[in-house]
Amino acid sequence: MATIHAYGPLGAGHINPTLGIVTELVRRGHEVTYWAPQMFADRIVETGARFEPVVSTWERIDGGPPQMHGRELIRAMGLLLDETEAMVAQLLGTPPPDLVLHDGTLAWWGRILAHHWAVPAVETWPNFVGNEHWSMNEYTKINPLSPRFLWQMLRIGRYLRGQGIRDIGGFMRGELAAARLVTIPRAFQYAGDSFTGWHFVGPALTERTFQADWTPPEDDLPVLLVSLGTAYTSRPDFYRMVASSAADRPWHVVLAVGDEVDPESIGPVPGNVEVHSRVPQLAVLRHARAFVTHAGMGSTMESIDHLVPMVAVPQMAEQRANADRIEELGLGRSLRPEGLDAESLWTAVDAVAAAPEVYRRLARMREECAAAGGASRAADVIDQVLGGHRARAGAE
Ligand code: UDP
Repeated sequence: MATIHAYGPLGAGHINPTLGIVTELVRRGHEVTYWAPQMFADRIVETGARFEPVVSTWERIDGGPPQMHGRELIRAMGLLLDETEAMVAQLLGTPPPDLVLHDGTLAWWGRILAHHWAVPAVETWPNFVGNEHWSMNEYTKINPLSPRFLWQMLRIGRYLRGQGIRDIGGFMRGELAAARLVTIPRAFQYAGDSFTGWHFVGPALTERTFQADWTPPEDDLPVLLVSLGTAYTSRPDFYRMVASSAADRPWHVVLAVGDEVDPESIGPVPGNVEVHSRVPQLAVLRHARAFVTHAGMGSTMESIDHLVPMVAVPQMAEQRANADRIEELGLGRSLRPEGLDAESLWTAVDAVAAAPEVYRRLARMREECAAAGGASRAADVIDQVLGGHRARAGAE
């Protein structure tokens, strides 16, 4: 049994993929405490871990969540540094654990705290990872020579050196971690075979009793889930377009508009459309025949797990990378949101739902997910890291 501190950022797409792993660690007898913003309390308690709230600087972001390309990515780096400083200040006084488990992309404070405590850190990566063969730069289009970028890097470097970290590049790439778990299967990763030093454990979905159940209506229409996830959801025109064009289509539409848009503002909707702020996504996917999705990686993995063909309408750089991969692997289609009209959307929905090869490819990718080992393989890796650390400590 070991004590493990888990850290997640303010982002369902980063916390949800860790829930299965934490559930398995608790089942194996580890004492896990999970620090995250209050809104995630219920889902963390469901894992059996102890929940501890943190106050995030991201609760209110001036200018909304940053787009992850060009200048916006530089703004995102600044926000990440602000959040990291705030979290380290909140958490440094807690008693050190045996191991830190943290989101590798956003919860940088896990790296810093593990460094201070000289304990191993294991990182969870819910998105594509990069190497010399494939990198997100293709989508983020950052100019490494731009003065703004260099200034932001300078700020980050100064802060990290103040925390006693010398290898700034290694820190930012997550190379100081004892292990890095990627919650997608290698077969979904671009250039997957070229990656060494990463554990592609695949998704580890949970029951999600923290969300209500969802039962389909008795109209026998196939269910279409439409959701842009939890972050880039302020798209009232898109939702209105979906709702108003759904009348007379042979679909029952479950439309999740997110927290930024008032469901009432979508206006009177046809009888085959239900509008919600959020939905219990796995419960709806269990009944869905197609999914119009922003192609967040969490939603993509969940769709594969439920064998639901996707129509991707990506809202930011990472989602564009995911959407392109969905199309490349034949798991659905990808549409650009700019100028998207109802006819193109419905044509794509009808096409993916009627294509037997899409279901075959989804089934193959689901097998890849199962073979990746999920929560149990992730927990094996963590146990190995703990074992190695104890052996080293014993030898000293
Ligand atoms: N989700 C949900 N109900 C909603 C919207 C999202 O349960 O109405 C969950 C979804 O199942 C997924 C996560 O929130 O686990 C969103 O993660 P994803 O990576 O798809 O996108 P993000 O919100 O990070 O852009």
